[in-house]
Amino acid sequence: MNRIVLKWGGSILLLFLIVFIPFAFIFHFIYSNLYYRDVEEQIDELSSRYANAMTSVEDSQVLQMFVTLASFTNNEIFIVDRTGTIVIDSGITGIVTGEKIPEKERMQLESGNPVYKEFHFLPSTERYLVSGKPIFNESSFQGGIFVMSSLDAIDHSIAQVKRFTLLTSIVAFLIGAGFIFMLSRKISAPLIEMEEATRKISKGDLKTRVNIHSNDEIGQLAKAINDLAVELDRFRSNRQEFFANISHELRTPLTYVQGYANVLKQELYTSEEEKKQYLAIIADESQRLIHLINDLFDLSKAEEGQLVLEHKKVDLVNIILSVMNKVMLKANEKGLEIQKIIPDQAVYMYGDEKRLEQIFINLLENAIRYTEKGGILIRVENLPNQRIKCSVSDSGIGIPEEDLPYIFERFHRVEKSRSRDYGGTGLGLSIAKKLVELHHGTITVHSELGKGTTFEITFPQTSNRTDTTKPNFS
Ligand code: ADP
Repeated sequence: MNRIVLKWGGSILLLFLIVFIPFAFIFHFIYSNLYYRDVEEQIDELSSRYANAMTSVEDSQVLQMFVTLASFTNNEIFIVDRTGTIVIDSGITGIVTGEKIPEKERMQLESGNPVYKEFHFLPSTERYLVSGKPIFNESSFQGGIFVMSSLDAIDHSIAQVKRFTLLTSIVAFLIGAGFIFMLSRKISAPLIEMEEATRKISKGDLKTRVNIHSNDEIGQLAKAINDLAVELDRFRSNRQEFFANISHELRTPLTYVQGYANVLKQELYTSEEEKKQYLAIIADESQRLIHLINDLFDLSKAEEGQLVLEHKKVDLVNIILSVMNKVMLKANEKGLEIQKIIPDQAVYMYGDEKRLEQIFINLLENAIRYTEKGGILIRVENLPNQRIKCSVSDSGIGIPEEDLPYIFERFHRVEKSRSRDYGGTGLGLSIAKKLVELHHGTITVHSELGKGTTFEITFPQTSNRTDTTKPNFS
């Protein structure tokens, strides 16, 4: 039996007993008192009636009639004459005709007062409740009549009621206990199911789900556990994919470096020109490795929420101009022109200068990387709703529509080989997105295959935030 059932069932039963036991005692006390008083009243009334109906104790026929009458009422009687001598009795053990009642009682009767007592007549042990009334003829004392009811009979009736009450209580208790334990079991069953499910989940069985759909708090808890399992499952497969990607990304340039280093070591080149070419490949691949490791470092910091931004008031126009300067050489090498449409005056926002630069370098480098002819346009404009819009457009190869929803996911590439040929790491856009979000901004993409791509970013114009907000990245 599980412990919660015991705890709940036990507590409810204990509560039941705490209420029931005093109640049973009080009930028993009131009932026996009432019963006792009822018998008392009965013999009191009977004795009064008999005493009133008699005028003398001399006619033995009349006396016998009273004895018979009493036997109908299940009571015993005995009658005494004016001297206190018992003249007749209904056959009670211990009462002997001719014996006297105590003088004190006789005098009490003679003075017109009733006699009440609890008594047992030796040698019998049977106890009686006795009510004695005086018999008067006019005002002359004739004797007395005693009506008795056996106390043992009263006790017997009370004991019978007690036994019956106890028996019904036990039956009620057992039925109640069974019901309470069934109910507790029903209530605790979902808890046990959830406990088992969470244990399975914690052991790595992330496909486990709790099958409880009630609308109460237990249902909510079950839903929360299921959501947690889904999230963990997603996180695990994400992580597996992530590590597979990292290994692949690291292995590829390293294979090149190792391969060409071996070629050089074994002097497998035919000319000085060829040797320089191989050295250039090694330098390029090493550069790519450094780039990849830096990106991975940034990404992992962002994912852990550890990327601390140094927010201050910055001029976005200035940042764009500086980024354009940095990438100009690369653009020129490919014969691409970078144009700008930016406001004449400064556009201020709160942000981290270095990280904002990183966003635009990533976008511009991509634009240069994936554009063969035409140009690149960078725009900055103030929107009416206190936001700044920046866009980077190119006339490059574009992104297929089916790839657009995934373009900001780490290591997502349109054709695996394409990015490598162009020298990317597959992390640039996901880092850019995270940095934009850390600046409370949004980033979207529009692209047409073969025509070009536009990335659009909006930032709040000035926000007084100086925090290191940690958005939820997965
Ligand atoms: P990468 O370092 O591989 O460029 P990114 O995260 O920056 O990684 O970009 C993801 C993918 O999105 C790229 O592999 C590329 O296929 C596509 N992409 C990004 N920017 C552009 C663009 N301006 N034009 C066409 N394709 C792009």
